[in-house]
Amino acid sequence: MQAFSVLLPRHTVTAAGRHRVINLSRHFSSSNTFRMAPISKDIDFLVIGGGSGGLASARAASGKFGAKTMVIEYKRLGGTCVNVGCVPKKVTFNAALIAETIHHAKDYGFSVQETKPFDWTTFKHKRDAYVRRLNSIYERNLANDKVEFVHGWAKLLNKNQVEVTLDDGQKTVVNAKKILVAVGGVPTIPPQIPGAELGTNSDGFFDIETLPKKVALVGAGYIAVEFAGMFNALGVETHLFIRYDTFLRTFDPMIQETITKEYERLGVHLHKQSSQDLVEKDDKTGKLRMHYKDKNGKGVLEEIDHLIWAIGRTPATKDIGLEDAGVEMTEKGHIVVDKYQNTSVENIYALGDVTGQVELTPVAIAAGRKLAARLFGPEEFRTAHLDYDNIPSVVFAHPEVGSIGLTEPQAVEKYGRENLKIYKTSFTAMYYAIMDPENKGPTSYKLICAGPEEKVVGLHILGLGSGEMLQGFGVAVKMGATKADFDACVAIHPTSAEELVTLK
Ligand SMILES: Cc1cc2nc3c(=O)[nH]c(=O)nc-3n(C[C@H](O)[C@H](O)[C@H](O)COP(=O)(O)OP(=O)(O)OC[C@H]3O[C@@H](n4cnc5c(N)ncnc54)[C@H](O)[C@@H]3O)c2cc1C
Repeated sequence: MQAFSVLLPRHTVTAAGRHRVINLSRHFSSSNTFRMAPISKDIDFLVIGGGSGGLASARAASGKFGAKTMVIEYKRLGGTCVNVGCVPKKVTFNAALIAETIHHAKDYGFSVQETKPFDWTTFKHKRDAYVRRLNSIYERNLANDKVEFVHGWAKLLNKNQVEVTLDDGQKTVVNAKKILVAVGGVPTIPPQIPGAELGTNSDGFFDIETLPKKVALVGAGYIAVEFAGMFNALGVETHLFIRYDTFLRTFDPMIQETITKEYERLGVHLHKQSSQDLVEKDDKTGKLRMHYKDKNGKGVLEEIDHLIWAIGRTPATKDIGLEDAGVEMTEKGHIVVDKYQNTSVENIYALGDVTGQVELTPVAIAAGRKLAARLFGPEEFRTAHLDYDNIPSVVFAHPEVGSIGLTEPQAVEKYGRENLKIYKTSFTAMYYAIMDPENKGPTSYKLICAGPEEKVVGLHILGLGSGEMLQGFGVAVKMGATKADFDACVAIHPTSAEELVTLK
């Protein structure tokens, strides 16, 4: 009970003076639910899901526009991004970059011990503590914006009512003028092969307590690629199983081909054209054995510490009453929305990953804020909505990848090959100039320009620093920049980015 006296004041005094239900069992070994006061029964805006989109929308609706708002979340505040996504992923990526830098340091004349062990356990606990800090900050932010936070499971009853199951099993019904479904997604369950359940998924990645010796990842999307790159950089024997010959298959072919080749060069064991047949566990060692097929025939991978299925994400639309409320969904379970985030049912809105549009945190946040402004803001926001065109995205691979706009095949389809001009370059970044050849990584850029004015309709970059670099170029592309605009910007020397404004 020692922690009780420390935590109680934080939970009893809300900046808003609002009633909240807090499950203190998150903080104590006791499973008691501590209820501060009855939760509101009638509100303006009820948000299901305290992730990126839900929190942004709720805070804007209440903090900016004064709507009486409630957020219901059954796990930890912050959703996927904060707890099992972008944030702990990027922290791990930073650790991997440091490992790479240590490895490169020798080429710059430093005498560092390259095999310096990496204390994953200490690192993991520090990363967990950072995420917990963020959880608290998110809770405080809600209070600051006078949003009522209820910890529990929400289920739609109809277009104006939501049933909330609190942590102690009690059920209560909340009436809401408007309801936002921002429940995100969950890792897709693995294929029906015997033993698949012995593996884990992207959520489980963040629970790994000790640095593994050998891992197997299945998937070709950005999550599998990022995890594989990080493990490999940290010295883990990494096997990546992909269905075709390249990964990141929604990206421009230049990106797919260059990064796939680079992963092979860096020592990731790529199993192309692969499928998995059986996973077994060695009861003595606890290690896994996977039987598979790949381009080279049948194989068995032994002594796997962790098998991670990263084969996509499924919208979290099960058991939340969408069918009863009459909300239309796609075959895959995503909620169908129009450009204003309206669902098929009046008063019910959806955004973020659950709509399957562009599954990124800033997209959910931006859509959430626009929706709040449209629903509760002044007249000038009545048509506010997010423009889903030209959204930049980055893969924290090794090296980083950035992309905005159309891929070359998409541009050909839209404009016709004859109306396009493609500018490409591949070079060795100056960072690698004095390094041993085996330490030199690739840099490749592509600009896709359309029409006589050469409007930039696609920009694809791969190389050191691409993540940071893309944001600025994203502004230019979003503004409709042409090749001439790019060329009119004087280069910054010596950088890699200067190549993008001097392409011939
Ligand atoms: C490993 C990984 C890495 C990622 N990296 C990046 C990145 O680098 N950059 C980036 O932009 N994006 C990244 N993403 C994607 C990003 O996390 C999501 O796009 C973003 O979190 C979507 O926000 P959301 O609000 O739609 O859903 P979420 O953030 O998933 O929030 C939904 C919330 O709803 C809650 N919920 C669900 N059902 C109920 C219910 N019935 N009642 C109450 N609560 C409920 C869930 O517990 C969850 O907290 C990553 C994702 C993963 C998995």
